[in-house]
Amino acid sequence: MTDTVKSINPATGQTIREFDTISDEQLNQKIEQTHEAFLDWKQRSFDERGALIRKVGELLAANKDRLARLATDEMGKPIAQGPGELDLCKGICDYSADNAADMLADETRDLPGGRALVSHQPIGVIFGIQPWNFPFYQVVRYTIANLMAGNTVLLKHAPNVWGCAEALEDIFREAGVPENVFNVLYIHDAQASQVTEHPRVRGVTFTGSAATGRKIAADAGQHLKKTVLELGSNDAFLVLEDADIDKAVDACVTGRINNNGQTCVAAKRFVVVDAVYDKFRDAYVEKMKQVEFGDPSDKNTALGPLAREDLRDKLHAQVKESVANGATCTIGGEVPDVEGFFYPTTVLENVRPGMPAYDGELFGPVASLIRAKDEADAIRIANDSVYGLGGGIFSKDEDRAVRLARDHFDTGMVSINGYFIAQPNLPFGGVKDSGHGREHGGFGMREFVNSKSLMIAQ
Ligand code: NAD
Repeated sequence: MTDTVKSINPATGQTIREFDTISDEQLNQKIEQTHEAFLDWKQRSFDERGALIRKVGELLAANKDRLARLATDEMGKPIAQGPGELDLCKGICDYSADNAADMLADETRDLPGGRALVSHQPIGVIFGIQPWNFPFYQVVRYTIANLMAGNTVLLKHAPNVWGCAEALEDIFREAGVPENVFNVLYIHDAQASQVTEHPRVRGVTFTGSAATGRKIAADAGQHLKKTVLELGSNDAFLVLEDADIDKAVDACVTGRINNNGQTCVAAKRFVVVDAVYDKFRDAYVEKMKQVEFGDPSDKNTALGPLAREDLRDKLHAQVKESVANGATCTIGGEVPDVEGFFYPTTVLENVRPGMPAYDGELFGPVASLIRAKDEADAIRIANDSVYGLGGGIFSKDEDRAVRLARDHFDTGMVSINGYFIAQPNLPFGGVKDSGHGREHGGFGMREFVNSKSLMIAQ
């Protein structure tokens, strides 16, 4: 049975395109073809793979304006922010091409009575299930690492960005990456199990919400397949009494509204010590108020719509529930009466445990302000979360901030005195309900390899 899936422009609510899904039989055929492609791809040298991957990066950069426009149309990313996503993709291609041979080189080890080698061999077809929020980057980050490692890749992208998935497949083809080394599956969520359980599929990498991650991991576990899970979070940014408040305010506004507030490592909870709470709050609210939503295809727009109507409804319900439980809505908090799935910048105060604004993930331009007594209380609040992806600290005493981040922050990444996103050369990933496994920095290339011991008697 095939069907169609609509791509809807979130700024207008209008359908842009319809895509046909593939049948279960066509799906099985794609999986087999991707396995066949693996048998050849795994034998190519790092140099050969690297040259093709570098070409993918060049083409992504050369087409960045066209691709950015596609993301704007399909998921509402402000057009000014799209090219940066494509530059990051190129950076990932270059880093992976430059470093794979070293990161995956055979290692020698001691062995009583002989010598030993550890070899990191590719394992086969890796299945990626990805979200829409960075429609190119999400795909590039696991695909490029796995292709450099010698695996081949299947992608089930979020249904609202299938135009972006198609554009990526075209770029890989144009770069000369052999047929079926990277295959897009136009399938419904319900067909994902069929891929996971297929014997040719050797690993599953999922990025998305913790709720879906649980289901994907349970499914993969049932079939004893390894997973990488990159899930959501409610990252805390701590503002200590010795912070540069202007710098903190700027970074905390950018960190909240970038990508329309729909970033896994967005700054979501702002934990401010009592001594500077009022000063930070006044400046932060003022700056958030100045950010107006608008047409994402206008290069001056800093805040576009949310990607889907149901996501906007969910965000608004979380705001209303938090307010019903005692939070104060200082600005925003109303669904505007306009076409498209827009939501205004919103600041909530008096946020406490038991509220979605404290316990959950608010995926949109809504900031939760939390007052802390002091540094110890601030880090306690930061870690008082089921999530553990990123976070931040603002303090003019850099050594103090580094110590706090390194020794006490229970997350995978911490920004200090700024707001940073993914970097090609640094590990990216979370702890607790934010998932397990790492992307980037060479760590992603080692997630789905067979680290094999060879023991040679002398
Ligand atoms: P989601 O979990 O709803 O969907 C993610 C993907 O899973 C999509 O492709 C979707 O079609 C698919 N999916 C949904 N239900 C499925 C099912 N039952 N079986 C198979 N596939 C299914 O997530 P979302 O709301 O689209 O994305 C936003 C979430 O992703 C946020 O929580 C965000 O923090 C998280 N995220 C995490 C990272 C990271 O690196 N940690 C990066 C980006 C986004």
